Amino acid sequence: MLNELYESIYQAIKENQTIIIHRHVRPDPDALGSQLGLAHLIRQQFPEKTVYAVGEEEDSLMFIGKMDQVETDQYTDALVIVTDTANRPRIDDKRFSTGRALIKIDHHPDEDHYGDISLVNTQASSCSEIIADLSLYLAERLPLNTEAARALYAGIVGDTGRFLYAATSPRTMQIAAELMTFDFSASEIGQLMNTNSKKVANLSGFVLQNVEISDLGVGYIILSRDILEKFDATDSDTAPVVSLPGTIEGVMCWAIFVEQEYGGYRCRLRSKGPIINEVAKRHDGGGHPLASGANAKDLAEINQIIDEFEELMVEWSKQ
Ligand code: AMP
Repeated sequence: MLNELYESIYQAIKENQTIIIHRHVRPDPDALGSQLGLAHLIRQQFPEKTVYAVGEEEDSLMFIGKMDQVETDQYTDALVIVTDTANRPRIDDKRFSTGRALIKIDHHPDEDHYGDISLVNTQASSCSEIIADLSLYLAERLPLNTEAARALYAGIVGDTGRFLYAATSPRTMQIAAELMTFDFSASEIGQLMNTNSKKVANLSGFVLQNVEISDLGVGYIILSRDILEKFDATDSDTAPVVSLPGTIEGVMCWAIFVEQEYGGYRCRLRSKGPIINEVAKRHDGGGHPLASGANAKDLAEINQIIDEFEELMVEWSKQ
């Protein structure tokens, strides 16, 4: 089944002269790694094609690569490929739907089945792992190259928390090993992804010192506008602190609530055991079983999410 989809994707790439690759808003390393990794694969094998990677850039992740500017009329005859994005509202740049054909490649639960071709593999640690697997399957027809390997490796490292999270499989490690044979420095990527600005380091200290931890193992912290301003931090500066509560003994699932400029809270939800994406779905969000995102309109909804986490922990502790 997977191999048939790989063949169909290859045919679509081969048949189209213009290919535009999208991914989700607020990009993380896997969104950028899968998007740019695929762009590098196609560019190397088909230098006569026009390949674009589009979306907002993220300053802290510019080491993975830059975005391209695309004129709207380029979409008319284009194949559009969307990586790492479960649902259409989260796709960065709404022109994705105006191409000739659409392909979805993702590893999140398939909540929104879109695309003329849809390749969803929830067993993969990351979308970058899927793109690398596609390239390894296609071998001579869409071979890996150094630039692609570097971007894909960064994506895998990002989504697995440097091979820490449960989604890291033997296949993930095999693929990472293949990527490492190319001429880039894996340790440099690791160091770049492990280096934070001073303000993020200060915010990290604040999060570790102030996270509330319940007896059942639910951790949470609210990062209000005041707190973010105090640390001169933006919404995207919260990405490196999301995993921190999980490093504290006894914390099993946790939430970081980030107050947004125009009201409401972005909820960044994580777990080391209980499945949390059902909670996320009830609060205007979704995601993976152990890493999800949602939106809370006010403090009352935040309390509701914390209560739902507590209930999950009650059930979890009975197992
Ligand atoms: P984040 O905390 O933003 O890093 O998100 C963690 C995971 O949850 C990501 O892999 C996203 O796929 C998913 N996610 C985040 N926000 C949303 C949302 N509003 N709707 C659906 N999925 C989301």
